[in-house]
Amino acid sequence: MALFIGLDLGGTNIKYGLVDDTGKVHSKGSMETRDDEGPGVVLDQLATAANESAKLAGAKLADVAGIGVGAPGMIDFDTGTVLLATNMKGWTNIRVVDEVTRRTGRPVALENDANAAAFGEYWSGAAKHTQVKHMIMLTLGTGVGSGIVVDGQLVHGGIGLAGEAGHLIVVPGGRPCPCGQKGCLEQYASASSVARRAIEALEAGGPDAVGSSLRLTLAQDRSKITCKFVYESAYAGDALAKKVTDETSYYLGIACVTLCRVLDPQMIVFAGGLSLAGEPFFEALRKVVAENSWKLPVKPADLVPAKLGNDAGFIGAAAVAWSKHR
Ligand SMILES: [Zn+2]
Repeated sequence: MALFIGLDLGGTNIKYGLVDDTGKVHSKGSMETRDDEGPGVVLDQLATAANESAKLAGAKLADVAGIGVGAPGMIDFDTGTVLLATNMKGWTNIRVVDEVTRRTGRPVALENDANAAAFGEYWSGAAKHTQVKHMIMLTLGTGVGSGIVVDGQLVHGGIGLAGEAGHLIVVPGGRPCPCGQKGCLEQYASASSVARRAIEALEAGGPDAVGSSLRLTLAQDRSKITCKFVYESAYAGDALAKKVTDETSYYLGIACVTLCRVLDPQMIVFAGGLSLAGEPFFEALRKVVAENSWKLPVKPADLVPAKLGNDAGFIGAAAVAWSKHR
């Protein structure tokens, strides 16, 4: 049985664990990222997290076949370098593979964090024990992250930026996105955008806003208008909330149809806060996809929730190490 360590590096936390070649998790933990202290300290932390993963599982680092690191930002896959991670202090041209190999003595593989999470769901989550070889994962959280698996491999593209489905344009000329485009999926289908659009609709007024149960909440504490709250209100029959959630399903569904035409995935997996809106969310999404998809007599892609939750990142990073160093 080969053992792998997965390290999921984020600006707030480093999540880590030891996983065997069947995907079974033998240990896991988390530590706060000391981002303020710069990349050197964070790289030391990655080595500590690797040691801790082995120790917690009763193994030695020397017994580990490989370490996978999932990191935010733009990555040069040829050199194992994080070129730029804007949410981390000083993370420009950090040679993660070299630095972590030097600190641990084990082979290291580097992957973008959203890709790693998708690969985790492919290897050991939603697509495990299925015939699926072609899968897309969309993480609907603060933004919309995604990863694409084709023929059992992550797709990277020319400069490592393939699979940015959050920036598919679903509304030409629509809402501005920090990426510089307008009408990106992320502006309509992230959990934050659901809350933001509900607040905008309430502030814009009109009959739905006047009759909305969300109005009082907005007046009392606008931070309570979350994606979860908007969905609960929609399910309870609030017309304004329902318009927002319908719009979300619509644009997300349209993006899914586009992704299906281009990549023919067997499965699309949904993770992140919005995916927790439950079965009615998936029903609405499947309906939009069916209505807007071509009418060929072929099985459509399965639209399913993710299974690994917050563990997808480190399990996926371990899976990346497994795919490279087994
Ligand atoms: Zn964008």
